[in-house]
This record gives sequence, C-alpha cells and structure tokens, in this order.
Amino acid sequence: MARTPIIAGNWKMNLNHVEATGLVQKLAWTLADKQFDGKKVDAVVIPPFTDLRTVQTLIDGDRMPLQLGAQNVSQHDSGAYTGEISADMLAKLQVKYVVVGHSERREYFGETDEVIGAKAKKVIEAGMTPIICVGEGLDIRKEGRHVEYTLAQVRGTLEGLTAEQVAGLVIAYEPVWAIGTGEVATPDDAQEVCGAIRQEVASLYDEATAESVRIQYGGSVKAGSIAQIMAQPDIDGALVGGASLQAEEFAAIVRFY
Ligand code: PEP
Repeated sequence: MARTPIIAGNWKMNLNHVEATGLVQKLAWTLADKQFDGKKVDAVVIPPFTDLRTVQTLIDGDRMPLQLGAQNVSQHDSGAYTGEISADMLAKLQVKYVVVGHSERREYFGETDEVIGAKAKKVIEAGMTPIICVGEGLDIRKEGRHVEYTLAQVRGTLEGLTAEQVAGLVIAYEPVWAIGTGEVATPDDAQEVCGAIRQEVASLYDEATAESVRIQYGGSVKAGSIAQIMAQPDIDGALVGGASLQAEEFAAIVRFY
C-alpha cells in the first residue's frame, strides 16, 4: 500500500502570532510558485499553542495546501491541570497532528514512554494523529545500542494501542545527536533504524499494520538532504525543526518530489 509522505515543520518555541502570519503566507506563496500538490504530500506546520488559532484561520481562509499540528498535549481530559491543553481543545482548532514525546519533552520535562503513550491515546481518541518521537542520544549511538534503545521506546509508547490505531499514526525517528546540531544521520543510518521500527511494528501487530504506519526521520533535515532521505524504503517523511522557520527552505523540503 502506498503511504502518503508527510513533512512536518516543528517551530518549537519560536514566532509570535504576527510572525507566524508572515511565515505561513510566505510559505503558501513559495509553495504555489513551486506548484506544490498538497495531495502528493501531507505538509504540516506545527506552531506554538498561542499561534494555532491564527494559523488555522489562514489555512482555512486561503485554502492553503497545509495542515495544522501541535507540539504537545495533556494526557488528561480536563480539570485541575493548570497550564495544560487537552486533545479536545486541539481538535476544536482543526489540529490534525500532535507531536508527542519529542526528545526535548523527554529530556527537559521528564516525559516517560508511559506518559507519551497515554498522550498518543488521547490524540487518537480525539480524532487526530499522533507523531510519536523516538530516538537515541549520542552515548547510546556510540555504544552501538541505538536500534535496541529506539525499539524499546517504540514498544513502550505503543503499549495498549490497537493495530488499527497504530496503522494510522506516525512515528518519528529522531536521533537526539542530530537535532539542531547540523549533524544529519546518513540515509543508511536513518534507514537502518526506520526499517527496524517497521519490523518491530510487524512483530508487535502484523504486516498490514507495519505497511501502513508512516515513519519519519528527523534531525537537521535541509533542502539539500531531503531527497536522499526520502529515497529510503522505510522513510515516509521528515520532522523538521530549524529549517521549518525559513519559508523558502521549508517549501523546498516539502517539494522534495
Ligand atoms: C526537531 O526539533 O524535531 C528537529 C528535528 O530539529 P532540527 O531539524 O532543527 O534538527
């Protein structure tokens, strides 16, 4: 079954709503210039929570070939969780994708596989698609344990999800040593782990689920590296940080085909 590629731009904690408007408009013009076809690739922008409403209005109004994502979500439904945002709140803003378990959340906010799995479940139940992030740090890579480490995160975050749920989600393999460092994993390195993730999904569930789940690579992806990454058989897209803040660069990544 052909999987639709998905390129998602994680803005992290950057851009206020005025700057967000400028970036999204410039992105839309650039994509139009490049005759980007939104049916060929799911192109997602993932602003901070405070920009979601602004970006949603722009995407709606101009029929831009962009979809909306969020960077995080609460594992709780509602109530006394000051500062948290629920999955239903995001769904109401026409958010389609939610990143869960980004390595910065794991490292700075202590998120465990269990919490990340609970968040993914809430996202699915609210009708959206989680982008579940996994990936090893430099020490693990140097020890040669990157595959087993990443697969343990896959098992931990997918626990309790059904085959049908897993078939529809996105897993982002993001080696931590490649995030924001300018150091891109080689296409072979990325394929090694992404292929192992797909095999793991096949053994946890079945072949059909493994064929359906989309797997992204993330870590210093740029316009100059995307084509080789996308040529790998088990890589269906990219999660892009820094380069997604530059309209021309992100448009060139999205228009990789
Ligand atoms: C990320 O934040 O998920 C990421 C991959 O960042 P960068 O592209 O800047 O390495």
